[in-house]
Amino acid sequence: MLDTPPRPDDSDVLLRSGIAALTPYTPGEQPQGGKWIKLNTNENPYPPSPAVARAIIATTTDRTLAKYPDPLATAFRMRASEVLGIDPEWIVCGNGSDDLLTILVRTFVGSGECLRVPYPSYILYRTLAGIQGAHCNEFPYKRDWTLDEAFAVPPADLRLAIIANPNSPSGTLLSPSRIKDLADRLPCALVVDEAYADFSDTNCIDLVRQSKQIIVTRSLSKSYALAGLRFGFAIAQPHIIEQLRKVKDSYNCDTLSIAAATAAIDDQQWLAANRKAIIATRQRLTDAMRALGFQAQESQANFVWCTHPERPHKPFYEELKKNGILIRYMRYDNWGDGLRITVGTDAEIEAFVNCMKTL
Ligand SMILES: *Cc1c(COP(=O)(O)O)cnc(C)c1O
Repeated sequence: MLDTPPRPDDSDVLLRSGIAALTPYTPGEQPQGGKWIKLNTNENPYPPSPAVARAIIATTTDRTLAKYPDPLATAFRMRASEVLGIDPEWIVCGNGSDDLLTILVRTFVGSGECLRVPYPSYILYRTLAGIQGAHCNEFPYKRDWTLDEAFAVPPADLRLAIIANPNSPSGTLLSPSRIKDLADRLPCALVVDEAYADFSDTNCIDLVRQSKQIIVTRSLSKSYALAGLRFGFAIAQPHIIEQLRKVKDSYNCDTLSIAAATAAIDDQQWLAANRKAIIATRQRLTDAMRALGFQAQESQANFVWCTHPERPHKPFYEELKKNGILIRYMRYDNWGDGLRITVGTDAEIEAFVNCMKTL
């Protein structure tokens, strides 16, 4: 009779050093089922352009899905190139902009080297550095969410810097001239994570033409209402794009997502109307929170960062949850905590504000 082999423990399976100790990135709650008002993960509250459904169905009516996808998502790059005024050779696509961030960190930051990011910001950057065995240097924002010039003074072994612009959780924006100034002084590439730029007054696409060091990433998750689809892209000069293409998975975007993303970016009328609605509701949300005694940060994104001068923040999150409303409670070590509220529909924000009034 054969003995069943013992289950290996961590030390037996020979994990790469650092992996077992890694803190996993935890995204906001995604409850399955139930009727929630979800104001916690910066999703768009409206359905995507109707052109998206038509494009997806069109891929299913012939042999299209029997074939491998286009590894370079050329249809999307051509359309995005016209919309953004950027050559298609300056664009690389990915499975959400998180995929692009992974590719960028893998391309630029090796084991023992350094990634610099502002803090508090998108926590995934830290995880990506950790997977590489790299060091994540978190550089604190000033209290008014501006960034000290010393951000450009490199720590040892600095290989890449990433700035979310607009930033999460604050919704604040650094001007393109500020970004250009930092990039000019940094000794490495600077990624401007523009996941929310469609909601802001300015963006850094023009800077990519002026600087060999600036890389912009974009997402269709938030502004095009396609978080479930997974599609994002990066814009950089061709010498960088060429390297990123080597590092990415060959088929990192599937046929359905390429077709859907192409249709979505083609519908700029939809984007303009959606942006207008979100920005109007954002103002209502900001005003309502101020009327309730919160400090609500002026936002350039589709969420608003709120703190209260006296009351603890977490109970608001907990009480709202009991009432079927999810927002994001954020606590940052050595910084503080607060509430990040996604801009929903007017009706959702009204329900949220009414619930807040009872607390
Ligand atoms: C949501 C978000 C992303 C990720 O976008 P996906 O395209 O859904 O992967 C990247 N950066 C920031 C700052 C985000 O908030």
